[in-house]
Amino acid sequence: MFDMRSENADKYVNKWTDLEAEDLLADIFKKFGTQTAIGTSFQKTGLVIMDMASRVTDTFRAFTIDTGRLFSETIDYMKQIEGHYANKLYQGKIQVFKPDENRVKEMIKQSHWREYLFLESTSHREFCCKIRKVEPSDKALKTLTVWITGLRKDQSKFRSTLPKIQPIIANGRQIIKVSPVYTWSESDLDEYIKKKNLPVHPLYSEGYATIGCKHPCTTATLEGEDPRKARWRWELEDDSSKKECKIHLSSYGDGSGI
Ligand code: SF4
Repeated sequence: MFDMRSENADKYVNKWTDLEAEDLLADIFKKFGTQTAIGTSFQKTGLVIMDMASRVTDTFRAFTIDTGRLFSETIDYMKQIEGHYANKLYQGKIQVFKPDENRVKEMIKQSHWREYLFLESTSHREFCCKIRKVEPSDKALKTLTVWITGLRKDQSKFRSTLPKIQPIIANGRQIIKVSPVYTWSESDLDEYIKKKNLPVHPLYSEGYATIGCKHPCTTATLEGEDPRKARWRWELEDDSSKKECKIHLSSYGDGSGI
């Protein structure tokens, strides 16, 4: 594995910050090849990024986190996307990282709500996100040097504070987190998808603006509603920017608090 610490990560921050998404991806794949991986939960951002990658490189790696609580539509859609990019995806498939089964079993036992422990309190919900999302993300980050994310500036107040290119320490290693469509709006994504005639996740046509774990963690949104409100709706958090599973928190620690 390429050791980013041996190079100056700031050099890449300076080089990549002003590049347009497609040029940025081309440069990253040229330099880092399959040490780069696109993390996707099958939202429009991941689709657009994978499509751009398919146009600028012969092979690209993509991965997802199967929390064990995904919508069945997401599993079916993943197969559809694997077929769509079969000739370009590294090893012909999207890599799937899952939570440790024993950790999930232990977690479930700790609440009378069992699998639905996230309904008990915000800290239970955060614990569930840690076991089912953050820890598998940790496993994924151990395998790469450049982490491509679908994060966008206008998704929430919190996300608008994050940089487009960010060196982070994950599992004691320095890697670079890159958000190629950071400044894109929802309509920019829609325009790209329409122009290239790409297949979007089927739940978008059922009113979902964000794709995550199944009900009740992710719900459809009402007309004009902030999409982050569709996550953990029962928490009644006024400030939706605080609704994060911690994968994108900048206080990324050594293997925990991603
Ligand atoms: S979104 Fe819900 S089910 Fe998924 S990991 Fe977080 S709390 Fe658990």
